[in-house]
Amino acid sequence: MTATRVLVLNTGSSSVKYQLLDMSDRSRLAVGLVERIGERNGRIRHTLVHGPDGPDGSARTRESTGPVPDHGAALEAVAEELSRDGLGLDSPDLAAIGHRVVHGGKRFTEPTLIDTAVVDEIERLSPVAPLHNPANLTGIRTAQKLRPDLPQVAVFDTAFHATMPEAAARYAIDVETADRHRVRRYGFHGTSHAFVSRAAAELLGREPSEVNVIVLHLGNGASASAVRGGRCVETSMGLTPLEGLVMGTRSGDLDPAVVFHLMRVGGMTADEVDELLNKRSGLVGLCGDNDMREIRRRVDEGDEAAALAFDIYVHRLRKYIGAYYAVLGTVDVVAFTAGVGENSAPVRAAALAGLEGLGLAVDEELNRAPGDGPRLISPPGAPVAVAVVPTDEELEIAARTYELVTGVRQTL
Ligand code: AMP
Repeated sequence: MTATRVLVLNTGSSSVKYQLLDMSDRSRLAVGLVERIGERNGRIRHTLVHGPDGPDGSARTRESTGPVPDHGAALEAVAEELSRDGLGLDSPDLAAIGHRVVHGGKRFTEPTLIDTAVVDEIERLSPVAPLHNPANLTGIRTAQKLRPDLPQVAVFDTAFHATMPEAAARYAIDVETADRHRVRRYGFHGTSHAFVSRAAAELLGREPSEVNVIVLHLGNGASASAVRGGRCVETSMGLTPLEGLVMGTRSGDLDPAVVFHLMRVGGMTADEVDELLNKRSGLVGLCGDNDMREIRRRVDEGDEAAALAFDIYVHRLRKYIGAYYAVLGTVDVVAFTAGVGENSAPVRAAALAGLEGLGLAVDEELNRAPGDGPRLISPPGAPVAVAVVPTDEELEIAARTYELVTGVRQTL
């Protein structure tokens, strides 16, 4: 019997998200989350989606609380939960573990089998992803201890954007300084942009190599990308995930001199400005809420701060859609994805309102119709398709991991 299961791990600084997938039919067997690692009130929430004796259709969730001292303890708790459902990490059915790694720098442009040299390089990239790469590495090292014999694969958030031309990837600053400190635009959410741009082409019944796509990944973090014939040519996030669109708590684009101003005139430290721009800006900074559902509710009640936050969010989004239209020259499909993109009809409608001259339009009824799969929301026969495409980063990570360790090509 061949091993067909892949465990996907997304290790953050204080949490581990995991999914166990079976690549023979791409089903999800179990999903879960360990939170508040390092705190006394840690929590694990584990859901068995399909039992090992075959799909039973009834998901079962267990939740427990208690101290989770470190990532080692967190992964042991994950292993224990999986074991209780007959899906233990010692199972011969487990083919590999796929890790989400945020920053792959210039070096990692593909999913990569993890060895000592790869671990060292991910560590060397930590200064450009101080919040993420060290946590991702902890996940890798802990998983290696639990199953030293099992192939482990790193799938990088930056990889899909490595095809960006230098004209898009470089900042216009002194080249020597930039190179010394690895300052360039890397882009993030690449796993999602790759998955969604392919799925959008599929929705049109065409090969990814034949179509140009603008992907709008609008979640709590948000980014746009321009994809020409399956290859990313531009994306909105840069050296870090701070650049680009207005996000839940991040400012996105601003004049870099705002930073000097806040330090010189506002007396803030670099860390304080960092915290302001990453955690207290974006929608939450503008109106106190970062959940688009709540913002829309407030807008409908006539709340001015929420209305202005919504307008600023949409204004920035429209600027990027126009810019990426110009970057691509011709566009076949605009695809909305992630929490806001998949669920907020008002954001989608406002983002494309009045752009009929560019061939872009949203059909009001299709836009409002509920649905959970990939679907078109442009009027039938529109020159440019507009689509809602649910993203699935875990499936993408599992597919790339499985492909790398078995050589069995995975078309999603
Ligand atoms: P993500 O980061 O992709 O999980 O997206 C999370 C964000 O999606 C939340 O902060 C909300 O702003 C947004 N969201 C989730 N569900 C909805 C919904 N039904 N309508 C509007 N926005 C939503």
